[in-house]
Amino acid sequence: MRKFCVLCGSEDEELIDSLCESCYISTKQLVKVEKEVSVKYCRSCGSIWVGGRWVQNSEEPLYYSIYLYVMKTTVLDEHVSEFKVNVDKIWKDLTGELHATISVSGKIRRESFTKTLDVQVEEDRSLCTRCLKSKGKDFEAVIQLRTSGKRLDNGVRQLFEETLLDQASQSIGDVKEAHNGFDYYLTDKSSARKTVSKFTKLINAKIIESYENERREDGKRKARLVISVRI
Ligand SMILES: [Zn+2]
Ligand SMILES: [Zn+2]
Repeated sequence: MRKFCVLCGSEDEELIDSLCESCYISTKQLVKVEKEVSVKYCRSCGSIWVGGRWVQNSEEPLYYSIYLYVMKTTVLDEHVSEFKVNVDKIWKDLTGELHATISVSGKIRRESFTKTLDVQVEEDRSLCTRCLKSKGKDFEAVIQLRTSGKRLDNGVRQLFEETLLDQASQSIGDVKEAHNGFDYYLTDKSSARKTVSKFTKLINAKIIESYENERREDGKRKARLVISVRI
């Protein structure tokens, strides 16, 4: 008895689950890609965070992190061979969410397939440990955003960060979560003051300035400006 594909009827095929290669490709879910991809990389040197540690990297960090994430998490149909991932482009939608268009390709026996997919990207642009160490010394100012309540309101945080990006985008060095709020490290004092003065025009806050890390450098006294912004 001759075997034939139960869908298209073609004969003399090597069948998989009673289907010819091309019907198998068109009806089966060959690759299962996660809809949300979350990546973390160093915005200063491009190192990427993989497997719980920082790895130095010479590729474009956002593209490469997405590529690695998809390679690692995609579930393949058992008959897929020569699986490849390509990150075609990265773009933002109208709400500002980051997306990546990726193509995944491979073979079912002799027949190739390619699928183009859209995934949402959650990116964390941090500073790796090495960059953090070398930059830590250069932070001239830190803004401590705090709440007297239990948790800092997300809307307040967002408003502050928008103001910060607006007033001091070139000076932002690092952001750290702290008790009841966040610490924003900046490379210069004046943009820290500019940010705080703009922010307090938008929202009521109690401001206290102080200094920390006082030291002598090249005969000059230096200290880090600490601005506490209490909501
Ligand atoms: Zn068929
Ligand atoms: Zn780095």
